[in-house]
Amino acid sequence: MSPEFNLIAKYFTRATPSADLGVGDDAALLRVSKGYQLAISIDMLVAGTHFFHDAAPYDIGWKSLAVNISDMAAMGATPKWATLAIALPEINEPWLAEFSRGLFACADRFKVDLIGGDTTRGPLNISVQIMGEVPTGEALRRDGAKLDDDIWVSGKLGSAALGLAHLQRKITLESEVAEHCLQALHTPMPRTDLGLTLRKKANSCIDISDGLLADLGHILDASNLGATVALDNIACHDFLRARLDEAIIQQCILAGGDDYELAFTAPQSQRHAIEQLAHQLDLPLSLIGKTTEKLGIEVTYKQQLLDISKKGFDHFG
Ligand code: ADP
Ligand code: MG
Repeated sequence: MSPEFNLIAKYFTRATPSADLGVGDDAALLRVSKGYQLAISIDMLVAGTHFFHDAAPYDIGWKSLAVNISDMAAMGATPKWATLAIALPEINEPWLAEFSRGLFACADRFKVDLIGGDTTRGPLNISVQIMGEVPTGEALRRDGAKLDDDIWVSGKLGSAALGLAHLQRKITLESEVAEHCLQALHTPMPRTDLGLTLRKKANSCIDISDGLLADLGHILDASNLGATVALDNIACHDFLRARLDEAIIQQCILAGGDDYELAFTAPQSQRHAIEQLAHQLDLPLSLIGKTTEKLGIEVTYKQQLLDISKKGFDHFG
């Protein structure tokens, strides 16, 4: 048996109850439930670009699947199957064991089966493709926002970006805050439960991977609308709240990537239902603004217009 084959058997083969055929043949065989559409997405993580070369392999495993599951959440789809294409510079079994542990921890948490992939030698590079199901016609799309929609965001923004700034020594965090922020950066929690519930409530949705303004911008572009957003209304960690006057903190919240929270728009008639949903899911859902006819995003802080055209809000760091 080739060494690659052994690795696949040892680290990437698990039971795949949701597939008719999983790892081991030339292709996996799947069945999409009647009345559902297949939702597919892929994300590539390159060492040195998307994670540090010396990052914990458990975290890399978790995150490479989690960021894909987050795309399913943003579509209102139930994640079901994943494939993994991985290039490895060397066969490092302790690294692979930890990577596999992180990947399957995430897979188990979100009930996703790894049904196939490809393993090759090369500079460390990880591509996960995710497949999920959504009732036909019910997916949450970027082009569905309507004029005067409320704009909502889940969770607390900015922690992951602050964690990255800490790793890059742009800011020094005390240990407790650093721990929280690094956890947000390394092991994000995709909001699948929220995404599924929003199918009946939201008009549009996106997951925040590149920063709130950039990702909300994608919804607005696709829907041909603008928006006003109040920075004060965005939930964030107490540490960020306490230093909300600082530019770097504002940047973390508005432009920091890697939060994997959901930004969505909904008609005002859904306001009460969405507030209740926050209680049900025990997840902050912040009403941060509304869509406007005037294109572009206006951000206010303490009722003053914030200058977001300056460098830093497009390209954080
Ligand atoms: P082929 O030469 O037909 O492409 P491979 O030797 O690449 O077959 O893969 C053998 C089986 O192992 C296939 O079912 C493939 O999907 C699976 N596989 C390969 N690499 C991985 C991986 N990293 N994770 C999960 N499954 C994998
Ligand atoms: Mg192959």
